[in-house]
Amino acid sequence: KVRVRFAPSPTGPLHIGGARSALFNFLFAKRYGGEFIVRIEDTDLERSSRDYEAEIIESLEWLGITWDEGIKVGGPNGPYRQTERLDIYQRWVDILVSTGWAYPCFCTEEELEEEREQLMKQGETPRYLGRCRNLDEAERQAKLAQGLRPTIRFRVPEHRVFVVEDLVRGRVAFESENMGDFIIVKSDGLPTYNFAVVIDDHLMGITHVIRAEEHLSNTPRQLMIYEALGLEPPKFAHISLILGDDRQKMSKRHGATSVIQYRQQGYLPEALVNFLALLGWAPEGEEEIMSLADIANSFSLERVAKNPAVFDVDKLNWINQQYIKRKSTEELKELLWPFIERAGYRDEVKSLGDEKYTLLVETMRDYLVCLSDITDKLDLVFKDAEPDHEAEKVLLQEGVVQVLRLCSERILDQEASPQEMDKFLKSLVKDAGVSAKKVYMPLRAALTGKVKGPELPYLMALWGTNEVRRRLERAVK
Ligand code: GLU
Repeated sequence: KVRVRFAPSPTGPLHIGGARSALFNFLFAKRYGGEFIVRIEDTDLERSSRDYEAEIIESLEWLGITWDEGIKVGGPNGPYRQTERLDIYQRWVDILVSTGWAYPCFCTEEELEEEREQLMKQGETPRYLGRCRNLDEAERQAKLAQGLRPTIRFRVPEHRVFVVEDLVRGRVAFESENMGDFIIVKSDGLPTYNFAVVIDDHLMGITHVIRAEEHLSNTPRQLMIYEALGLEPPKFAHISLILGDDRQKMSKRHGATSVIQYRQQGYLPEALVNFLALLGWAPEGEEEIMSLADIANSFSLERVAKNPAVFDVDKLNWINQQYIKRKSTEELKELLWPFIERAGYRDEVKSLGDEKYTLLVETMRDYLVCLSDITDKLDLVFKDAEPDHEAEKVLLQEGVVQVLRLCSERILDQEASPQEMDKFLKSLVKDAGVSAKKVYMPLRAALTGKVKGPELPYLMALWGTNEVRRRLERAVK
């Protein structure tokens, strides 16, 4: 049975890359009827926090990525937080030490630094050369008696090639030469990533490790530990980097990098997961707008690309718009509400009443790339129009004042629907005896201060006759 996991380190919010790793694991589990586990890798005490852990969990939940076992939900292989598993790691360390695969190292930071510098000067790979490899028991006891607190290092076998048969990248071979014995337990007693990950993946019955490419170079070290302990390693799949549109590694420079930021900007979770799935994976058909369930049905690692995925914001925006278009008005009203509050228009929108709020949402829906775009649209409705440069030009054209006056005189003396406003505008064109453009453009410029935007009849219906008249009079003054 397929068992996969997402193992975030709670040292920051959930990033786009992490979310994609989580998603691919989730999809893989769903596709093959397997189980998906979430485990917290918090052994870096200084950088980890419970707040980040909570934030990561919340982001996953918001995205609709659920797990069968792990942090928060529990399960038979817990605890699912590494700092609560220290006694478990200790048992395996003892095995490695007693079989000679690991040994205590008493080198100080200064000694190690000096060694690295020396090697670099000689043009060699900086690494640990094994000073404490062959200390005898008496020497170890003496060092301990001095109060030195050792790290535990893994004894890297010499002259070996470790091969990762990667499900995405193919066969990748690593020579053990120059790797240097690496630390598996820090001097504070906490295990390092490369060690804890092996023990946990083994004990949790993980069959496939799907993770970011940056961990590929760690994999040979993990394979050595599996081998030393006589354990069967899982299969590995390393998914490519995500690059910004300038083909550099995605970073803060490229805009929002965390899931929370996208949520705050008003991207819909369905849109974001859809987009993330397409970062490196391609469906067989043409259709790219797919629900999580649809993607899970056709997901496979064979269709995951080796080359880096480029984060295309325009595509994300397009996808988000598609999802906004598909929402019912009622859903959209609810989704937009927090953004309306944040924009400071809570009371204004409340006083519109439900019918007009519905009309507001229907008027604006096609013009929203993300939900926070509602702020601009609310400005349009509730603030007085100050014509921008282009609108100014339109308003200065000949005959404009007459058209605006005519509209103000003729406009229906009542609340009108968008359809009625539309009819009215058509009759206005006739009465003015000019082209439709010569009516609509100045009206739009006068009413909104812009030359483009949501449908005029809708906006006019939203304002109502009195407000339209007020705006027109303000414009001709
Ligand atoms: N804690 C590691 C990380 O966040 C997990 C790597 C792995 O999946 O093995 O990068």
